[in-house]
Amino acid sequence: MAQTDSTTETEKRDLRTGEPFWLADGAPNLAVRKTPKHSTYDVIIAGSGISGALTAWHLCDGKRRVLLIDRRPPVTGSTPASTAMIQYEIDTPLFKLSEMIGQDKARRAWKRSAKAVQRLGEIVRLENIPCGYTEKPALYLAGDEFGFRALQTEQAAREAAGLTSRFIPAQELRETYGMDRTGALLSEPSASADPAQLTAGLLRRAMDSGLEIVSPMEVCDFVATGAQAALTLSNDQILTCGHAVFCTGYEFLKSLESREHRIISTWAIAARPRGKLPVWLDDHIVWEGSDPYLYFRTHTDGHVVIGGEDEPFETGHMNAAKLQRKTATLVEKFEKLTGVSLYPPAHRWAAAFGESTTGLPFLGPVPGHSHVHALMGFGGNGITFSVIGAEIVAAAIAGKPDPDASIFAFPSDTDAP
Ligand SMILES: Cc1cc2nc3c(=O)[nH]c(=O)nc-3n(C[C@H](O)[C@H](O)[C@H](O)COP(=O)(O)OP(=O)(O)OC[C@H]3O[C@@H](n4cnc5c(N)ncnc54)[C@H](O)[C@@H]3O)c2cc1C
Repeated sequence: MAQTDSTTETEKRDLRTGEPFWLADGAPNLAVRKTPKHSTYDVIIAGSGISGALTAWHLCDGKRRVLLIDRRPPVTGSTPASTAMIQYEIDTPLFKLSEMIGQDKARRAWKRSAKAVQRLGEIVRLENIPCGYTEKPALYLAGDEFGFRALQTEQAAREAAGLTSRFIPAQELRETYGMDRTGALLSEPSASADPAQLTAGLLRRAMDSGLEIVSPMEVCDFVATGAQAALTLSNDQILTCGHAVFCTGYEFLKSLESREHRIISTWAIAARPRGKLPVWLDDHIVWEGSDPYLYFRTHTDGHVVIGGEDEPFETGHMNAAKLQRKTATLVEKFEKLTGVSLYPPAHRWAAAFGESTTGLPFLGPVPGHSHVHALMGFGGNGITFSVIGAEIVAAAIAGKPDPDASIFAFPSDTDAP
């Protein structure tokens, strides 16, 4: 179970504190309805973040009747709080994950993650979504949790699995990147994007193919009977559907809780550099093998976006003093590591974040219910997991089960009614 500090239940309903960079100009403008048009749908999706948007994009084919419901205005959950480093690297290194779940499954999880990053790039290009999507390699620096030896072991594991990754020794790291660490891994594919515009773009394309969005409206509960699910809404309406998909991010129905995952807190900033940035910084996304870890990348408008300082408290992100302290630490760590000086950040924010024991997400049918699905994409590469989750759920709904579904399945202790 998540640990909590003294914050109240009401405050827990706030997913974020401070102003995320990606919402500085307001939430994306999407046409929504106040109430559903129909009482029955082929699919009902709860949640309008990146998971719900990708799921809707896959399912809306002009034939299915698909409804998406959000308790908030669209794209104002945790997705716009994301630093949106889109990478295949899972928080748990491949060699560690192999120890946890076996080599074959671990390799399949990592390779599926790499495929998902490629697939997201293809979707953005296909749909011509203006979201600053930029492909760039990821640099994973040796840190206090995974140092020189661990990175060498990890490089060997990635190479054996056929993943694109290269070990960068300390001297090359200093000469090419000006950073002083015992080594790093350089890997592809990865990318960065504006997560709010990416999500809004996907929702707009799905709306072109018939998606209906209702907001603000909460899905309070579900019952699954035979080949249908019934959802109770906050206006007491009951809707029925062939399939229900919960894409509710770090807020989920009590019945989806598991001992295998935790909600924690994380912090981020966006700041302008005082001088010209080194060219490599624009061309890479960077993270490290430390606990807590630091990660950063630039955006197309010149801001440096930095995140990290995670702590294991579900409500820590709501503390205003911590927001100041933690974001000051992010600036200090970044400047010390890169030698790049920043102006005081114009945007500082904190948010809920999720992690699981293995670093893998839970995606697919809720135990005991083949018609109720959920996407719980935990970890630093949650967006990549959303891509995989949407594919798994869309395949299940189309009656063509995904070959990797079992790797990302819900743990058996999930206690759905
Ligand atoms: C600071 C920060 C940095 C991050 N950095 C990265 C990164 O660099 N790369 C990466 O890949 N990932 C990153 N992540 C993780 C990533 O942002 C998440 O995995 C992803 O955004 C989750 O998307 P989602 O659609 O599942 O959830 P959300 O975006 O939270 O959407 C869920 C939606 O469901 C709605 N909802 C909840 N309950 C209900 C209900 N009962 N009824 C109706 N609606 C409901 C909410 O209002 C919300 O709009 C980061 C996260 C944070 C907080």
